[in-house]
Amino acid sequence: MKLKTRIHVFTTLLMFIILAAVSIGVYFLFADMMYDRQAEQLRARGEELTVSLNELTPLDDRQQVVRAYTPPTGAILVADDKGKNLILADTDKRVRGFKPETDPDKPYTLTKVDGTTALTVSLPYIDPAGGVATIHVTQLSGDIEHNLSLLRWILIGILSVAMIAVFASSVALGRIVTLPIDRLTRTMRANREDGTYEKIEGQNGRDELYEMTLAYNDMMDRLGRNYEKQERFVSDASHELKTPITVIESYARLLKRRGFDDRAVADEAVGAILSEAVRMKMLTQQLLDLARSDKADSYKFERADVRVLAEEAVRPMRQTYNREFSIEGPDHAIAETDPEKLKQILFILLDNARKYSDGPVKVTIEDSGGPQLIVSVADHGSGIPEEARPHLFDRFYRVGSDRNRKTGGTGLGLALAKEISKGLGAELTAESVIGVGSVFRIGLPKEQGGGN
Ligand code: ADP
Repeated sequence: MKLKTRIHVFTTLLMFIILAAVSIGVYFLFADMMYDRQAEQLRARGEELTVSLNELTPLDDRQQVVRAYTPPTGAILVADDKGKNLILADTDKRVRGFKPETDPDKPYTLTKVDGTTALTVSLPYIDPAGGVATIHVTQLSGDIEHNLSLLRWILIGILSVAMIAVFASSVALGRIVTLPIDRLTRTMRANREDGTYEKIEGQNGRDELYEMTLAYNDMMDRLGRNYEKQERFVSDASHELKTPITVIESYARLLKRRGFDDRAVADEAVGAILSEAVRMKMLTQQLLDLARSDKADSYKFERADVRVLAEEAVRPMRQTYNREFSIEGPDHAIAETDPEKLKQILFILLDNARKYSDGPVKVTIEDSGGPQLIVSVADHGSGIPEEARPHLFDRFYRVGSDRNRKTGGTGLGLALAKEISKGLGAELTAESVIGVGSVFRIGLPKEQGGGN
């Protein structure tokens, strides 16, 4: 069964059951009240009759008195304890001599007489001679039946109008609920068929359906971005790997053709093949790191001493290269970060400083007491031309003069550093003065969630 139909059927049926139960309850409550009132009146009449009968002198006409107390469209019967009728009076021939089967536990008895309900109240009576008798006061309840029938029709009318309203509102409810779901299904189907990542537009309000649309749109956004990333990764990888593969291939051919006879050619070819293979290895590693860099679960935050991390990043640089790498700043600088990722950024910046300058390289840690620590890597290299600075963090971007230099760069280092910074909630910026040198700054939040 469709969701819309289920909503219709369920709400309509439920409301019908509730309204019908309420109507039936109201009907019986009203009927009870009416019969109770009539019974009270008849009982009062019977009690007054008892008093009057007790006050009679022997000469008075008892029949006359009973007649005077007989209710309209009713009858009074006084019967002795053996069931013999003593006095009979009536104002309607339908109840003439009527004597119902009375139940002593019930305050009154209802009996059908000639198609009309007759209500009888019975009272005990002890006559002056000491005999025990019962007075049965009966009255036809035509008025009550008429009122009850009117009430029945009114309730049926109200129930019908209410059910029409309920049905209409359940149709509206069904639409409200299913419209966005239909839209979602249509969009999903179109996305599947066209291979697109379309989002759902035009959902207003702040309800659960709006939340569902937001969640869907967010998912589409992520899928779209991931797809783009993958596409980019594949095209970047194939494009960038083409050059080293071509170089390796042509040197291998050269080696095959002449290398075994000519030692110099063999040396050159093997050297080139080796350096291109190393570059390829670095390139693929960086490409993989880049592809993984925005995965939130790959970041493991903990409280770490940035000073210690800087020392750890600088140590292998000092050992490998014959250069001065210094660290300045407080002895301890604590931040909630991913130590390995922060070190990865520092390695990239230190390696660049080393590659693109000749003098000493300085790491500075600053803690101004704000929410961020500033970690900078400064060199005294040739600097970065102004027109190149906006592109520094683009993938595969290399400043013109460095393209041909044998620095072994891939153009991916800073793009990767920028991506990792984002994952750490940090800001990575660059400043450079031609002929003086460059400074790369990391604005690292001390606390995650409260940083920046
Ligand atoms: P790679 O170093 O592998 O070429 P990067 O993304 O790390 O790639 O750097 C991009 C480019 O930015 C480099 O090719 C270089 O031209 C320039 N660059 C990066 N760091 C510095 C620096 N400290 N001094 C001068 N130029 C730099």
